[in-house]
Amino acid sequence: MSDEIRLPRPEYATPPGVQHHVCEHDGCSKDAGWGFAKPKQVPHWFCFEHRGEGEQFL
Ligand SMILES: [Zn+2]
Repeated sequence: MSDEIRLPRPEYATPPGVQHHVCEHDGCSKDAGWGFAKPKQVPHWFCFEHRGEGEQFL
């Protein structure tokens, strides 16, 4: 997956299949499997349906 961001910080290293993030889209509370972040910036998380919105943070 070329659009999947791997975050090096330990607090974001969740075990496979476990998600601790919720989609940031307004009114959406799905599990967010896609994290978007520039280096040294706080990542933004979105579900599969709204992951396109995360690209604005890249
Ligand atoms: Zn969503």
